[in-house]
Amino acid sequence: MDLIFLGPPGAGKGTQARWIIEEFKTPQISTGDIIRAAIRDNTPLGAEFKSYTDAGKLVPDDLVNRMVDDRLKRDDCQGGFLLDGFPRTVAQAEALDGMLAKAGRKLNHVLLLEVDDAVLVERITGRRSDPDTGNVYHIKFNPPPADIADRLVQRSDDTEDVLRQRLDEYHSKTAPLIPFYEGKGYLRRIEGVGTPEDIRDRLFGVLKG
Ligand code: ADP
Ligand code: ADP
Repeated sequence: MDLIFLGPPGAGKGTQARWIIEEFKTPQISTGDIIRAAIRDNTPLGAEFKSYTDAGKLVPDDLVNRMVDDRLKRDDCQGGFLLDGFPRTVAQAEALDGMLAKAGRKLNHVLLLEVDDAVLVERITGRRSDPDTGNVYHIKFNPPPADIADRLVQRSDDTEDVLRQRLDEYHSKTAPLIPFYEGKGYLRRIEGVGTPEDIRDRLFGVLKG
């Protein structure tokens, strides 16, 4: 299946993606993860990316589009993919349409996780991740095992100030994708509040329905 995960920062896309990729055996393509890897590896592009991510701003479309175009051509994507964090602008969505048309592919679903901004602040400021496994925890909602707590890290953009910027970007540049995909008949709305297992069951209901 060719899937897109849409939703504001902290909606639970990464958490839910783990279950979806296990069940449907498709790769998760997270543009945020690819961008953070480039920053960590100090590549020339990484330095440019960091100026945007630190400010809570979107990276320019052409850079992200090229990254995704290369990634979708790889062998592991030929049977399907889960895009997490892309597209984030209408221009990116149009570029994706072009990539898919060229490959003779069509989207199956755009999964929109709906969560109010007030909930997102607590989710994002309490998010911690394990650099060894990539697992994501929450200090209150999904506390890590005691023996790994010391090695967990917090993303530098997961502060309340930067989150406000990211939410502004989401509402002004990404939310227009909701009517865009609704008009094409791909949009599936999923209530993103509840236990992660409840939300997984709602998502599986859509994907297996
Ligand atoms: P979130 O947890 O907010 O959904 P991500 O990990 O997806 O965050 O993205 C982190 C940052 O990486 C964004 O704030 C943005 O600067 C950049 N980024 C990720 N994906 C995109 C994209 N598709 N277009 C532009 N910038 C992106
Ligand atoms: P996104 O990828 O959309 O930015 P994450 O999956 O990283 O979101 O989730 C953000 C934070 O919220 C993480 O700390 C995660 O453990 C926590 N979280 C995820 N799903 C839920 C949920 N259903 N209820 C409470 N907290 C959650």
